[in-house]
Amino acid sequence: MSSSAEGPYQGAFIANKVVPVEGGASVPVIAPAEGVVFTEIAEAGKAEVDRAVAAGRRALEEGEWGRLAGFERGRLLARLSRAIQESADELVALEARDTGKPLKQAQADIAATARYFEFYAGAADKLHGETIPYMREFFVATEREPHGVVAHIIPWNYPAQMFGRNVAPSLAVGNAAVVKPAEDGCLSVLRMAQLAAEVGFPAGALSVLPGRGSVTGTLLSSHDDIDYVAFTGSPQVGELIQAAAARRAIGCTLELGGKSPHLLFADADLSVAVPAIVNGIVNNAGQTCSAGSRVLVERADFDRLVGAIADAFAKLRAGSPEMDLDLGPVINQRQRQRVEGFIDQAKADGISLIAEGKVEAGVSADGFYVAPKLFGPVDPENRLATEEVFGPVLCVIPFDDEADALRMANDSEFGLLAGVWTRDGGRAMRLARKIRAGQVYINGFAAGGGIELPFGGVKRSGHGREKGLAAMHELSTMKTIIHRHG
Ligand code: NAD
Repeated sequence: MSSSAEGPYQGAFIANKVVPVEGGASVPVIAPAEGVVFTEIAEAGKAEVDRAVAAGRRALEEGEWGRLAGFERGRLLARLSRAIQESADELVALEARDTGKPLKQAQADIAATARYFEFYAGAADKLHGETIPYMREFFVATEREPHGVVAHIIPWNYPAQMFGRNVAPSLAVGNAAVVKPAEDGCLSVLRMAQLAAEVGFPAGALSVLPGRGSVTGTLLSSHDDIDYVAFTGSPQVGELIQAAAARRAIGCTLELGGKSPHLLFADADLSVAVPAIVNGIVNNAGQTCSAGSRVLVERADFDRLVGAIADAFAKLRAGSPEMDLDLGPVINQRQRQRVEGFIDQAKADGISLIAEGKVEAGVSADGFYVAPKLFGPVDPENRLATEEVFGPVLCVIPFDDEADALRMANDSEFGLLAGVWTRDGGRAMRLARKIRAGQVYINGFAAGGGIELPFGGVKRSGHGREKGLAAMHELSTMKTIIHRHG
């Protein structure tokens, strides 16, 4: 199949236009629910990456975008939020087809995407600097400035939300955003870029470059004229991104993987804990960086606590987007093999399969479905307890007391989220303070939830913060102006 500029998916989106890519390279797009190719995307090469970065630079230095005040950028973001809401049905259908997620999850994702633009619309004119007392004859003030042209490289698990989470704060502070969505999830992103043009974003403020990571992603992240890189994806690629940024001494944000623990104590309110724990691993078929993928369970009451999770797990159903069940398929054949590899290894290691959900009858035999599984007790050193599966597989691990739970929670190369489940408020706060993670929930857990809540990792989960006002600080730099007035 060759690439043409006829639809939003057959080109790169540069300077408010869908443009054909030189050489006509394209990548097939497979529907995970059916395992069939249903469209193709263009693959942006060097020419398009150069053009998009140059368009961003022009927009900042010569075009209208760089001259807009914060409140004017905010108005554009608000318009885009409304346009996303008005196009919700179309975007939900695209997202569900592209990623296989149940319609209700795609609906929640598109609603959250609109909320990102709404939140940062209101914040665009509220990024203040400060004045600094200095010597008498000086007036000193700081102000926030955009980095410039920012490359946003995002993954396939929540294409629309990742677009909102990255692009809304970036545009709010006045950067020119060049987005490289994932090849396995980018249709909604290309469509929203068109909406941005339709609501009046000046040319070059936003570009979207579809294509594979090894081609388009490498070209963009190593481009000589980008000023900052915001990356969400795997730790392995994160290392490459940081190395490329280091070669040019520019900054980067890395949002990488996780092995986020729940710490489930015997005094927890299971009516709240169990649904949150189960949802925290099956939402998006477990393909969530902040999924709660290991449950540390108080040994003294292990059977009752795990039994409650097992009962809920056994009721889970996977199906197509239209069936709208608890979870859909995983994203592609490679990911299914990876998840099944973990399951087979767990069985070979003699770990008990405590409970499993079902794949609904009637789904396509070629879809990438995996029935959700609960394993345990698992040795904390086993790879099921230490590695990110990125699938609907949960493991339970017993602990003896608070100190033991804390040690195991922190004994991970990752540090993204944690959930503490106990009615003992003192214990909850002690643990929240000592757990090494970017977010700690107490008696709640919402993987990736909360547009207002700063989010990001420590250790191999990455660095930098997204969401909330923190994202605007991350995506801007500070200038200090020192005025000697005599
Ligand atoms: P990935 O790292 O393979 O891909 C992420 C993005 O990087 C995609 O757009 C991809 O095309 C691009 N890419 C791939 N190779 C590249 C290269 N050499 N140079 C530049 N770009 C390249 O990750 P994935 O498989 O798409 O996503 C799964 C991973 O992402 C998981 O590890 C998950 O935990 C992580 N993730 C993290 C967060 C977070 O916020 N912390 C959110 C979602 C996903």
